[in-house]
Amino acid sequence: MEPFHLTIFESQALLKKKSLSAKELTESVLKRIEATQPKLNTFITLCEESALCCAKEVDEKRARGEALSPLAGIPISLKDIFLTRGMKTTCSSRILSDFIPPYDATVVDRLKKNDVVLVGKANMDEFAMGSSNENSYFGPVKNPWDLERTPGGSSGGSAVSVSAGQCLGSFGTDTGGSVRLPAALCSVVGLKPTYGRISRYGVIAFASSLDQVGPLGKTVQDVALLLEAVAGYDSFDSTSHPIPVPSYQTALKKDLKGLTMGIPDEYFREGIDPEVLKAVHTAIDQLQKLGAKRVKISLPHSSYAIPVYYLICTAEASSNLARYDGVQYGFRATASTLAEMYLKTRGEGFGREVKRRIMLGTFVLSSGYYDAYYKKASQVRTLIQKDFTEAFKQCDVIVTPASPTTAFKLGEKTENPLEMYLTDIFTTSVNLAGLPALVLPCGFDQKQLPIGLQLIGPHFKEERLFQMGHAYESATDWHTRKPSL
Ligand code: GLN
Repeated sequence: MEPFHLTIFESQALLKKKSLSAKELTESVLKRIEATQPKLNTFITLCEESALCCAKEVDEKRARGEALSPLAGIPISLKDIFLTRGMKTTCSSRILSDFIPPYDATVVDRLKKNDVVLVGKANMDEFAMGSSNENSYFGPVKNPWDLERTPGGSSGGSAVSVSAGQCLGSFGTDTGGSVRLPAALCSVVGLKPTYGRISRYGVIAFASSLDQVGPLGKTVQDVALLLEAVAGYDSFDSTSHPIPVPSYQTALKKDLKGLTMGIPDEYFREGIDPEVLKAVHTAIDQLQKLGAKRVKISLPHSSYAIPVYYLICTAEASSNLARYDGVQYGFRATASTLAEMYLKTRGEGFGREVKRRIMLGTFVLSSGYYDAYYKKASQVRTLIQKDFTEAFKQCDVIVTPASPTTAFKLGEKTENPLEMYLTDIFTTSVNLAGLPALVLPCGFDQKQLPIGLQLIGPHFKEERLFQMGHAYESATDWHTRKPSL
């Protein structure tokens, strides 16, 4: 087997035994990127030289007998939303297309301290706004299972890089489903951790009350390793939480006896592809066989999640994106007056979807409309949060589909934003409530397109999701299938 096919856990064992070097592993991944990047358009920036240099350093450290992190020498990619010192960070926008940050995001800093090998910055939807990766200034990413289809968004490049063997793990961000939807559509594992679990210092902001960093990997165990390396309090981010980071690997050893799954009625109604429905029901049966009990639960305000999400995220985005004005950094249009410079810079620098959201967000925050839209949405958000609090009195984990359909064709929904927004129907409520949720492969449809299962837990109970996800994964082989590229 080519080293690029290995999981993090498998390569770790080989690296330790010295039957594989970090340099060999990195070379294998870089070759794979060279062969597949033209088809997939996964990366915006590649850093082959620094990757090889870093891999060589890890090999030297190992040869000297230094104690190394489990992630030392592991090639990973990062969504191009994480600031990387001295390395272009575009957020897939023209407005930041030449931006070179002066500092590293905390996630990047922690990964560097773990001797991870960064291979490149992954393509995404502009400012993380999108569900299909088609809103990128650098062109869409293609789904490795069918090159005519979307990989999902907005962290499409991250999911594809893992699925196609262009790296062993990745980090994306999830504001309304952006780690979980591409994980489901590309057959990889993706986690949206609890709000506050991972620092967002140096992560370009979209909607600050919803944004969260999330790892993607080939297995639940790999995702647990990635989370452990970056989670925990950061004095640079006042929304990061001081609650200690447990050893997630320990949770993987537990069986499912004593755990109860809640199955929410509202997530299994009309609008879901029958093949997705069938795969998810089969997975629930399997989890039951593995020892978990099941109960029916209700999340009565679920149907408000999409409208509430799109009011809150656009409002927050309109405020966060006000900083891109051509004055301090990023693209600046030529103009003869200051007002014209602002207008042209933002007009030419942002893409269509970003402009649509800034306009909608500015409208819902404006005086006279604030109470009717933003305030009302915030009130309904509280009701959605309360639904989950009630549900978790009856169950330990909530099980749902991750996406209503498998990967759709590129261009299929681009002219209909409302239809595109509905792809997030099972994911946005999790962000509104600040909860953790894990998505993992649970089957394929007849077109051989992947299907994802979503496990939602109470705040800071990522361990429980890993426990259930790992038990399911150990009893099935969906995660071992690879796209033929
Ligand atoms: N698809 C959703 C949106 O466009 C979610 C994006 C995200 O999670 N970053 O807002």
